[in-house]
Amino acid sequence: MLLKDKVAVISGAGSGIGQATALLLAKEGAKVATLDRTPAKSQQTVDQIKQAGGEAMMMVADISHWEQVQPSMDKIAESWGKIDIVFANAGINGVWAPLDELSPEEWKTTISINLDGTFYTLKYALPYLKKQGGSVVITSSVNGTRMFSNSGATAYASTKAAQVAFAKMTALELAKYKIRVNVICPGAITTEIDQNTEREDLEEAQEPVEFPEGEIPLTNGQPGTSEQVAQLVLFLVSDASSHITGTEVWIDGGQSLLQG
Ligand code: NAD
Repeated sequence: MLLKDKVAVISGAGSGIGQATALLLAKEGAKVATLDRTPAKSQQTVDQIKQAGGEAMMMVADISHWEQVQPSMDKIAESWGKIDIVFANAGINGVWAPLDELSPEEWKTTISINLDGTFYTLKYALPYLKKQGGSVVITSSVNGTRMFSNSGATAYASTKAAQVAFAKMTALELAKYKIRVNVICPGAITTEIDQNTEREDLEEAQEPVEFPEGEIPLTNGQPGTSEQVAQLVLFLVSDASSHITGTEVWIDGGQSLLQG
């Protein structure tokens, strides 16, 4: 088992990429703490881990509120003695709309969950990571890093670009504590995120671009799975990647190379 005796905190572990990663890291021996604002869904993740003989605990927190994140990290470290792995993954698409229709509140909601939330997740785990070193993985996206053709997704793409800068800044700052920070940039992955996206009047914002047929070259258009992303996260949090820090990895079947 690659992660025996490691303690992992996974935000957004109630669904999609976070859930698949929680199950995989637990299978590899990690004790997994879920950090999600939706208790019913994270309970399912915790139950599945326990049924498979693993250890898991559920923290209910909205990552855009530091007052909820800080006590969760303290409680995890208190219960299991340490934190080795942080997967800062929770995020929303938010409202995708032309700029003049996007309200300041809609903008702020996306920024505060995706960007402030990433900052709080790492900041409040940091006192514990510093004690023995560790590995942090942040979920960005192809949007804002290689793809700029999803007009209307301005707030989302801005947070995803900022997460890459955040990962590189912190990778350098924290290297002396033996803390690695990497960032993953998924393309289209089948999860629940699309059902939670609010799209408004996008025809107005979109450029009339015609993509070539087969949007994802490696799969002839089929999206990736959360389990495929989880395998990448496992690599990045395990000692198999012990010399890798400050790096983004795109996991998109070549989608962003075609659609940038
Ligand atoms: P999902 O909607 O299936 O799961 C997201 C989880 O995050 C849910 O359990 C939800 O309750 C939780 N969450 C949302 N806001 C939260 C908050 N404020 N506090 C705590 N928990 C919160 O989505 P997913 O597709 O698995 O997305 C995970 C990450 O992957 C996101 O950061 C997303 O931007 C990124 N991503 C997804 C895709 C894709 O195609 N699915 C592509 C690129 C990047």
